[in-house]
Amino acid sequence: MPIKYLINNIEFQSKKECEIYIKNILQKNEITIDDRRFIYQLLKMHPKWHDKSKNIIKRNYKGVNITKIYGNNCFVILNKDNTYETISYHKCLGKSDNVRENVVSALRECINIQIAEYKLEVFLNKNIVVCELCNLELINNSETHVDHINKFRDIINNFFIENNILIDEIPIKKCGCVYRINDDDLFDKWYDYHEKNAKLRLLCKQCNLKIEYL
Ligand SMILES: [Zn+2]
Repeated sequence: MPIKYLINNIEFQSKKECEIYIKNILQKNEITIDDRRFIYQLLKMHPKWHDKSKNIIKRNYKGVNITKIYGNNCFVILNKDNTYETISYHKCLGKSDNVRENVVSALRECINIQIAEYKLEVFLNKNIVVCELCNLELINNSETHVDHINKFRDIINNFFIENNILIDEIPIKKCGCVYRINDDDLFDKWYDYHEKNAKLRLLCKQCNLKIEYL
């Protein structure tokens, strides 16, 4: 496969592969200087980088970081006046601001806690946790992924059908660098629906990457 992105000397064959790598950095408790070099190279690909970075402290890895905003880790540009500018990595990868994608990310954001709790619970209840596809022993870190056995998009589609809602009708608002469902009833309804219908399992990173390509 041809190289789709080359960022900080790391080759990615697809956008998906690159996104998974980025999400892994976003989940880390502590990032290395090399991670920050990667982030700097990535954020420079933003179409409005020139404008967004006009007050940046330093034109290298020191000018970027990860900050928690509304409970979510976001990439930011650090400004000379101690303020920061949030920056969407989706746009750095050439994704436009697509309503459907934003609604899907708001729906995902809503159930993130269920995903985290599922993972925690499996590790609390089992002495040895293995990847359900390849039997590799897993540890409780970002290399272990929670996978939807019944696809996330199918759960969403069924939710829409059962509740007679159209995707464009979901009110969302931007909080920092993520989208949230901007309706408490709908938020609760979706939260419960996902909890009841999602079938989850733990996979190693490699297996999860493989099935995401299928
Ligand atoms: Zn595996």
